[in-house]
Order: sequence, then structure tokens, then C-alpha cells
Amino acid sequence: MVATPIGNLRDISLRALDVLARADLIAAEDTRNTSRLLSHFAISGKLFAFHEHNERQATQRLLAVLESGKSVALASDAGTPGISDPGAFLVGAARAAGIPVVPVPGANAAVCALSAAGIEAPHFLFYGFLPNKGSARRRELEALKGLPYTLVFYESPHRIMDCVCDLSEVLGGERTITFGRELTKVFETVHSVRLGDAPAWLEADPNRQRGEFVLLISGAQPAPSEPVSEQGRRLLSALLAELPLKQAVRIAAEVGGEKKNALYTLALKLKSEHG
Ligand code: SAM
Repeated sequence: MVATPIGNLRDISLRALDVLARADLIAAEDTRNTSRLLSHFAISGKLFAFHEHNERQATQRLLAVLESGKSVALASDAGTPGISDPGAFLVGAARAAGIPVVPVPGANAAVCALSAAGIEAPHFLFYGFLPNKGSARRRELEALKGLPYTLVFYESPHRIMDCVCDLSEVLGGERTITFGRELTKVFETVHSVRLGDAPAWLEADPNRQRGEFVLLISGAQPAPSEPVSEQGRRLLSALLAELPLKQAVRIAAEVGGEKKNALYTLALKLKSEHG
């Protein structure tokens, strides 16, 4: 599984070049594309078309090649094979047949965008492509709406505006979107903007809608804890002065009838304020 560049050809790894040069057969998503890559690096390889429409039949042929003791390198059009790209079916079949599968890591558009976005949140969810149709897209977004992780999407230029409008409508305008456009290429752009302002930002310059996109959306914020009434607050403060925190919270909840979680959060705040 050989990762190839997502734009800048110099992002190919030395190991990827070795593997491509030595493979008995190179299975390529687009043979013309891969042959351009090979000729750039003066590699002559035997190419075999392997794409989403022939993945199943092609897998049978490639398994026969592998079982005869030959090696096959798989390269997709750009980035890491199997990531929003064909490859998983072949890999599964090869592994089931006891044939070793070796990852040769390299470029990946999602990770490339994340690395340059400056997002401090520690978790992200890689979603890849959303559906093309608006209704299906909005339905899938509804399911993602409450997740507290940075959401990572791939999108093409034809759908970028519709997709961003749906993102804003379903997830809300207050989140931040980071566009990773044309990464590693001449017109590379990494730009963050409030999601509600993103359609206008895209519209302000038609060039902003061109090229390939990774979209990073900040995760859902946790719902604010329920407020505690003034009376509940006074009761809690008085109890905290005499009792350990847990006990004070329990009694305040029992006597005042307020939510334990909210009292607990407030108790921690009061403790830190008053030492
Ligand atoms: N396997 C690839 C990877 O590892 O990133 C992804 C392949 S997927 C078919 C192609 C999508 O990846 C594009 O539509 C775009 O969303 C994203 N992509 C690929 N190259 C990119 C680039 N240079 N800049 C931004 N996004 C890119």
C-alpha cells in the first residue's frame, strides 16, 4: 500500500520510490496518472488498472499474481490508498489469504490539513466524503452534530458551496471551519473562519471555490451546566464552610432540590475562589 503525493511530487518517500521500482506489478487507480508519477522519477513499472468500479474482479486477478510469489504495489491517485480511496477490499482479501500486506506511509490530505490548522482540541473524527445530495448530507450531519470532536471532511470544488451552507445550517454558525485547499500545491490555502461567515468568504473570491478541499469543523461545545438559584448558592456556600465538598453538595441537593451536577460544578468553583 504505497502512499503517493497529494500535490507536490517531492513529498514521495524514498521507500515508496524503492517499492514502486521493485514491484512486479503496480496496481493504480488511474494508470495515466501513476505513469506520469513514475516517469517523473524515471521508474518503469508494469501498470494494472485498479479502481472502485473493478475492485472486486481485479482483486481476484491480483490475488493470483500474489499467490504466484510476485509482488504488487498499490497506489491511488493521491495520498494513502484505502483512505476515501479503493484498496480496503483487496487488503482484506490478501490478509485473509495469508498474504502479507505492507503499508508504505506518506501523504494524506486530512492529516496534512490538521497539521497546519493549529487546532488544539486533542481528538478528531475523520469522516471523509459526505453524500452528494443535500437531504442525505444534512441527515448525516444531524448525526454528527453533538460530537465534541473536530470533524474532518473531504469535498470537491463542485459541491463546496452547498456543503458549507449545509454545515452552517445543521451545525450552527458559531463553530469554526478551517479550509485546507490545494494542499502542497501552488495555490495552497489554510484559512479559518466562523462557519456562519464561510459562505460569504467563499463567495468573495471565486478562486476560493476552486481545487480540492479538506474541511475541519470545530467540535460541539458541551452544554453549559444548569445554573443554580441564588438561594441554592447561599445554602451551598454555608454548607461548604462546615463540611467536605461531597457532603455539602449532597445536602444542598436534598434540601434545595437543585441538580447535583450543577451544585458540584459550583462547589468546585467556590472552593477554588475561596481556597
Ligand atoms: N487517499 C487520499 C488521502 O490519503 O488523503 C484521499 C483521496 S480522496 C478520493 C480525494 C479527496 O481528498 C479530494 O476530493 C479532497 O477532498 C482531498 N484532497 C486530496 N488532495 C488534496 C489536496 N492537495 N488539498 C486538499 N484536499 C485534498
